[in-house]
Amino acid sequence: MLIGLVSKQEQAVELWPGIHAVRLLGSTAYLIVEDELTLIDAGLAGSGRPLRRYLEGIGRSQADIARIVCTHNHPDHIGGVREIAFGHETEVLMHPADSARLRIRWRDVVARPTPSTFVALITRGPEDAHPVLDGQVIPCLGGLRVVHTPGHTPGSICLYAASLKLLFVGDVLQVLRGRLAFASQFFSDDMAEAKRSIAKLAALDVEVIAFAHYAPWRDRARDALRELSAAS
Ligand SMILES: [Zn+2]
Ligand SMILES: [Zn+2]
Repeated sequence: MLIGLVSKQEQAVELWPGIHAVRLLGSTAYLIVEDELTLIDAGLAGSGRPLRRYLEGIGRSQADIARIVCTHNHPDHIGGVREIAFGHETEVLMHPADSARLRIRWRDVVARPTPSTFVALITRGPEDAHPVLDGQVIPCLGGLRVVHTPGHTPGSICLYAASLKLLFVGDVLQVLRGRLAFASQFFSDDMAEAKRSIAKLAALDVEVIAFAHYAPWRDRARDALRELSAAS
């Protein structure tokens, strides 16, 4: 069952009991509240403060965050990682292709001057991120499976909670004019690959799609994914 609790004060929506969509600076992060906390994405730099306020509101603290899973390496998703993880035993998880991209140098940008390479150059990443790979299962929500969906960035991942038929997609999908759509062409590294990656998502049994920049999609999600995949 879905619960659409909206608290304007806290700027959060509880998608399911224990899964909170928390609006941070620049994007929405998802806080999974179990004995230990899992945070999916961390907003822009400066997001530590609104997150701490939110945690206080639910009687938890930053020290309870066991892990931060980064859907990809864009600054509106990883900018807040350092300040949230700093001083705590918080594990930071990122696909190695995105960790590698953050080590890009000027000469690489000059060789391939695109918005995506330039954004990577100016983004400060968590240097000590642990690699997560396709198929790996993160120990929360009864098993949160990593689906590597490259294209928006080389290491973009989606996270699938089979028990809830819930899919976290980061920026791999958008909602444009009320329709499910491919990632932003302007900000994506390889659009052809981004489109091909949707086939992996279309193979999953999904009822709800949780985005970083849009309200959750609950309308025939599986069919919408299949239609989009067929259009790629
Ligand atoms: Zn984003
Ligand atoms: Zn992005």
